[in-house]
Amino acid sequence: MKTPVVELGDCTLCGICEEVSPSVFHVSELGYVQVADLDEYPAEEVDDAIKNCPADCIAWE
Ligand code: SF4
Repeated sequence: MKTPVVELGDCTLCGICEEVSPSVFHVSELGYVQVADLDEYPAEEVDDAIKNCPADCIAWE
């Protein structure tokens, strides 16, 4: 199964991934992006987040 991962070192916490795919990405109060632990990820939403991430730091693994 494919899982989205965020390269936290490059993330600017802009919040776009959470806007595009709130069921998967969450900018936590602790100051980093959390990826939800799902059995299956909404591929189109995640692809949109990957496309729109200004830091280009989301990828499938
Ligand atoms: S869109 Fe990219 S840079 Fe912005 S919060 Fe999400 S992972 Fe970080």
